[in-house]
Amino acid sequence: MAKRDYYEILGVDKSAGEEELKKAYRKAAVKYHPDKNPGDKTAEEKFKELGEAYEVLSDPQKRAAYDQLGHAAFDRRAGAGFGRQAGGFHDPFDVFREVFGGGSIFEDLFGGGGRADPNQARRGQDLRYDMEISFEEAAHGTDKDITVTKPERCEVCNGSGAEGGTHPRTCPTCSGRGQVISSRGIFSIAQTCPHCQGAGQIIDKPCKTCRGHGRRERTSKIKLRIPPGVDSGSRLRSAGNGEAGVLGGSPGDLYVVLHVKPHDMFQRDGDDLLCEVPVSFVQASLGAEIEVPTLNGKAAIRIPAGTQPGTMFRLKGKGIKNLQGYGHGDLHVRINVEVPSHLTAAQKAKLQEFSDLCNGHESPISRGFFEKAKKLFQ
Ligand SMILES: [Zn+2]
Ligand SMILES: [Zn+2]
Repeated sequence: MAKRDYYEILGVDKSAGEEELKKAYRKAAVKYHPDKNPGDKTAEEKFKELGEAYEVLSDPQKRAAYDQLGHAAFDRRAGAGFGRQAGGFHDPFDVFREVFGGGSIFEDLFGGGGRADPNQARRGQDLRYDMEISFEEAAHGTDKDITVTKPERCEVCNGSGAEGGTHPRTCPTCSGRGQVISSRGIFSIAQTCPHCQGAGQIIDKPCKTCRGHGRRERTSKIKLRIPPGVDSGSRLRSAGNGEAGVLGGSPGDLYVVLHVKPHDMFQRDGDDLLCEVPVSFVQASLGAEIEVPTLNGKAAIRIPAGTQPGTMFRLKGKGIKNLQGYGHGDLHVRINVEVPSHLTAAQKAKLQEFSDLCNGHESPISRGFFEKAKKLFQ
């Protein structure tokens, strides 16, 4: 099914500011909140859609990506299972809570008692993992094994928290709501259920392995495919490798943030590379075939006679592979002319001889410069 435009979902136009977005979201989210529309699948879908649209458009970076690429900016299938952009949407209820600022306003809106069901499965947290890779690994792509310690579903009780053969039962004190209402004078106050501590359920025989939490810390190895063309700051999404969900909820995602080490010889500018190559002044004067390094071994370029310091040469397609598959960047070679030093007496004599043969014709840049200077000081 084609996804609807985020601006259309919120009913705002493309120039809408922060406040306008928030207002539009608040209005629609209250209308379609599942607690107000029990069992209404269409409302639920709308509520989810609103959360996603607001999440993207309220984040300047995501909004810019969306304006540029549309839904493709968050396509989870892009690049071998990794969304390049900050994909992975949050729970629409989290978005709602963030905008409405937690429980109190929420209850005002729905006349109390509308708290999210504590027994509801919750998605696991997303995790961030920072990784340093070499310049070459970023350019060519690589496979990495990373070790992550995180809460995973307890394999003994299969996440229920209850010892084998037993099941958690609904808390009789709060009937599974996780909170109890007590009356003080004219006020009704909602409090966390003291019997189940807000969980909404009682585990009579907790699983010994996870002590009833349903999850436990474990260290596991995760295989990661790094596509060629990534750069410092690139985020890779490893779906389902975040924290385990709670009460059977789906796991979160793992985001790997890359940091690329600098290279001795190459500087990177997007997909292009820059390399400075020294040549002797004789080579620069007479012209020469010189060797230049590339990411895939050496290449030869011909510099013409009279090549000046700072002259750039371009090796087309010898840069870095574009992450989105748009070919390769270029390698730019900047010529640095080395002035000879530590000369022997014989070398000095030859240079002096050379200098005596010069008449200014061979140095048009110097000649032009001194003529201008002369005019300046007239
Ligand atoms: Zn367990
Ligand atoms: Zn309870």
